[in-house]
Amino acid sequence: MIINLISDTVTKPTQGMLDAMMSAAVGDDVFKEDPTVNALEEKAAKLFGMESALFFPSGTMTNQTAIKLHTQPGEQLICDKYAHVYNYEGGGVSFNSGVSCRLVDGDRGTMTAAQVESVINPPDFYHSPLSTLVCVENTANKGGGTCWDFQELQKIRKVCDDYKLGYHLDGARLWNAMVEKNETALQYGRLFDTISVCLSKGLGCPVGSLLLGTKEHMHKALRIRKIFGGGMRQSGFLAAAAIYALDNNVDRLAEDHKKAKEIGNVLASKSFIKKVEPIETNIVIFEIDESYMTSDQFVNTLKEKDILIIGMGQGKLRMVTHLDYTDNMHDELLKQLATI
Ligand SMILES: *Cc1c(COP(=O)(O)O)cnc(C)c1O
Repeated sequence: MIINLISDTVTKPTQGMLDAMMSAAVGDDVFKEDPTVNALEEKAAKLFGMESALFFPSGTMTNQTAIKLHTQPGEQLICDKYAHVYNYEGGGVSFNSGVSCRLVDGDRGTMTAAQVESVINPPDFYHSPLSTLVCVENTANKGGGTCWDFQELQKIRKVCDDYKLGYHLDGARLWNAMVEKNETALQYGRLFDTISVCLSKGLGCPVGSLLLGTKEHMHKALRIRKIFGGGMRQSGFLAAAAIYALDNNVDRLAEDHKKAKEIGNVLASKSFIKKVEPIETNIVIFEIDESYMTSDQFVNTLKEKDILIIGMGQGKLRMVTHLDYTDNMHDELLKQLATI
């Protein structure tokens, strides 16, 4: 039995999901003629109370498309220093949109409205890049699955309105935040101009993300997705997995959160662990006390026990719980950790 805690993207489709995929009605989605993709996009738009949605092959492409929608080359977006759009999208912000990032030194991936306001360049000062977009990430991945305070998100909305900035949510793991904080998709749909969500993480799909926004946004996004090479043909097979996941795999995320907290408690009790970040959802970030062993030694010790985890740099290690991390595996992991 291999226990893979590297990411919540390692899940494989369940039999139920595969059955839904195999019986999907499909068509050519580049001509917008795939009935299952169309049904998914309608379902998601309705769920968030937004006008329109568009299905994408990856979360990176949804974020990159959103950034392109809201900006012109030379402009600047504002995000936390931990943001996925800044750290883990291959420099796409500058490559695809010709935009720079103004980083905020936030708290575990979250920012305050005051911090956002303080880094907006004065629009008439033509020497500096024009600030046109704020990107927030919920949950914040590099912050350790951090959930935002919804009121702070509302305050940032006000700042965006005051300064006429676009407001994009990278909601790759928004499902986790909504389950944990008892929030609704409608709440988020009302607040943001555009939202991206992943289906291929906690929800267990093999492929897929969605971008949500106005009809006009999605009309433009269709062209940008084409330019980025993201037009797919009979993608209804993938959309069927997404519909299945939305119907079956959202509420159960609470189990992943419970397991992550239990792992954190065991880690915190061990003398060789220097620090465990607060655990809010399904991500556990921790540091080894290197006077006992190095991070690499710890990763290798686990690997010998068929337990896979990865480092995030700067001595930080990460474990992520997910759909394929079973109760059995959980018992085994806690037992194994106790023996180290
Ligand atoms: C995973 C992730 C994405 C998108 O990643 P893809 O691998 O391209 O689907 C975007 N933002 C965050 C915060 C993520 O964790």
